[in-house]
Amino acid sequence: RVPEGDEVSKAQEAVSGKVAPTIFSRIIDRSIPADILYEDQQCLVFRDVAPQAPVHLLVIPKKPIPRISQAEEQDKQLLGHLLLVATQTAKAEGLGDGYRLVINDGKLGAQSVYHLHLHILGGRQLGWPPG
Ligand code: 5GP
Repeated sequence: RVPEGDEVSKAQEAVSGKVAPTIFSRIIDRSIPADILYEDQQCLVFRDVAPQAPVHLLVIPKKPIPRISQAEEQDKQLLGHLLLVATQTAKAEGLGDGYRLVINDGKLGAQSVYHLHLHILGGRQLGWPPG
């Protein structure tokens, strides 16, 4: 067994269907606190603990898909739902002048939590390209 946290280990667990629980599973089941703005049967929206903009929210599916590159055809409706919840939440947060939606994937994408999440960043002028 390769050490926990290792990329290969995570990939193997994902392929075998044994998805390693992350900190986001514990936010979903309320075993750790988060500032939750929205919840429905399929997803949850909460504030990022280390905000990179005045508004920095995370939209996560309750289904523990580890990363966007592991989403499947059967997740199509869920993925669309996450995007629409993100746009509705951005509007509710007053981001009418614009914002950014980001999904980091894997090591080179700088993903740190292996439970799919969509970042909503806004409330200031954002730069491009990102780092
Ligand atoms: P990633 O780098 O994987 O795209 O983003 C993970 C995000 O989750 C980071 O922005 C990080 O600040 C946030 N995060 C990590 N742990 C927690 C936590 O326990 N609570 C909340 N609210 N956000 C977290």
